[in-house]
Parts: sequence; structure tokens; C-alpha cells
Amino acid sequence: MSGEPPRLATTRAELAEARAALDREVPDRGARPAPVVLVPTMGALHAGHERLLGAARTLAGPRGSVIVSIFVNPLQFGPAEDLDRYPRTLEQDLAMCAREGVRLVFAPSAAEIYPGGQPEVTVDPGPAGRVFEGEFRPGFFGGVLTVVLKLLHLTRPAIAVFGQKDAQQLALVRRMVTDLNVDVVIEPVPTVRDADGLAISSRNRYLSAAGRAVALALPRALRAGQARAAEGGPAVLAAARAVLRAEPALAVDYLAVVDPGTFGPAGPGPALLVAAAKAGATRLIDNVPVVLPAQDAVTGDAATGDAATGGPAADAADH
Ligand code: AMP
Repeated sequence: MSGEPPRLATTRAELAEARAALDREVPDRGARPAPVVLVPTMGALHAGHERLLGAARTLAGPRGSVIVSIFVNPLQFGPAEDLDRYPRTLEQDLAMCAREGVRLVFAPSAAEIYPGGQPEVTVDPGPAGRVFEGEFRPGFFGGVLTVVLKLLHLTRPAIAVFGQKDAQQLALVRRMVTDLNVDVVIEPVPTVRDADGLAISSRNRYLSAAGRAVALALPRALRAGQARAAEGGPAVLAAARAVLRAEPALAVDYLAVVDPGTFGPAGPGPALLVAAAKAGATRLIDNVPVVLPAQDAVTGDAATGDAATGGPAADAADH
């Protein structure tokens, strides 16, 4: 890696200037591959983000360049969520970007992204944005897709990189890009986990040692479910549910086997076992891929998912 510090843009004007400089650097960008690759983040960069930066660097190739955006997007936080205390570590973030060969970091203020305050025109995530995370965090995906679309317009990448850790977000970004004809390729990156199995997240730092021990039931449940994939969706759910029941301190929001593209019922073939839960005040989301057998199409809500202790009705009624 170059180790050279990235250029830092904090305003749209600085970004436009720096982005134009990248085009001037590679005047025949269209003729030979020299893609600009965007990695959107909320900062507080960790080993999961680092993997995204490495993937972006590889996708960019020797002539291309990587842009990282660092923006804690108020539009995707609910009134009771952690917008004000979300970790902000710009100096360390810039150091990681330097190590990973990032050329340009865009770290704007909220006023820079939303100069008129709350935008009136926003992206509607559609039905897949109203289930699972969308049900538990109303308005979340509308906020995410609106800022992702703005960042894509502002940075004009050929490729944008997203983590499979946030699988529903990845599916919705892909759907938005298809439905709204956004000229960008979306590249997924597998989830990075700590040695104990917990998917790395900026919010893990809120966990106490005891909270972390409780949280570990989530990846344990997903692994247990994944191990039963060959037996079909109901066996996957039963195995995962048994692990979750053994850790009552983990408050499960949902557990389900879904189609990775639509987050609707999963058919035979590639699917996702998705889950969200709270360990104390810290909310965790995670998922693992499963491949369901041909004879066992998981259809209908009842077979698709449930809360740890009840069906989808209990899921909705509890929250
Ligand atoms: P965030 O800063 O949390 O908005 O995440 C920025 C990007 O990093 C998103 O595409 C996330 O899916 C991805 N990401 C976050 N944590 C991980 C992880 N543990 N493994 C892989 N990607 C991740």
C-alpha cells in the first residue's frame, strides 16, 4: 500500500474539484480500465471496513482510484437511536485509508449533504424496505437509499462496494440501482468476524464483557442453523431457535430464512438466514448464507421466519 495520505474533501465543492482532478489524471479512463470505486461508510472504521477498502483497491486496479465517504447520515437514524453518540474517529479513519491506498476521503457535515434541511424528495425503498430491519427501524432504508443515491451522484463511481453484513441494505441498494437505472456496479464483500464469531460492527464497542458473551449467541445460532441447511428451511430455523432459547438475555427481534434479493420467502438454492437481536442496549444484526435443497422450497410467512419465541404475529405485536 502506498501509505500516502488521501486527499480530504469536506464540502461538495472540494469533492467536485478533487473528483475532476481524478478524471484529469486518467484522461482515457473510458478506453482502458481505471475505475473509480466508492466505499460508503459512517466512519469509526474497523477490520470489516478494512476488508471493503482492500476489495475496492483490488477492483480499482493499478490505474483506478478508491474514494471513501464518511458520513453519519441523520436521515437513517430514528429519534430514539444513537445519532449523537455514534462513534466518530476521523484521524484513525484517515490513517486506515492511507494504509489501504485510498485516494480521496469525502467527510461532509450534515448541512453539506442536506443544505435545505430535511429533503422533501427521498427514495422509497419499496416493500422489501418495510420488512425485517425496515419494520424495526421505520424510515431507515429510505434514509439509507437517499444518501447512497446522493453519494453516487456526487462521487460518480463505476463501482460501489457494500458489506454482506448488512444484507438487506445490499439487496435494496442493488434494487434501487436496477429500478432507477443508476450507472454503477454494486460489489458485495463477505462479513468480517472477530475470532469469537461476532460480526464486527462500530456499535460492538458499546458492549460490556458480559454483554458480548450474551451477543455471541447470535452468531452461534446462525452457525447452528447453517449446519442444517441440507435438511431445509424449517430445520435451519429450529436449530437456530434452539440456540437462541438457551440465551434468554438476548432479546431477538427476528430470525428468518429469506431470499437474498427480495427478502421474501426463500425458494430452493441460495438463501440467507438473517437475525437481529439486542444484548442490553446494543442492537446486533447478522446473517449467514445457506443453500436450501431442491425438494424443500420454504414458502409462506409461517415457514419463512419468526421471532425466537413465537411466529410472525408475535414478532409484530412485541414491537
Ligand atoms: P457502516 O459504516 O456501518 O455504515 O458500514 C459501511 C459499510 O461497511 C457497509 O457496506 C457495511 O455493510 C460494511 N460493513 C460493516 N461491518 C462489516 C463487517 N463486519 N464485514 C463486512 N462489511 C462490513
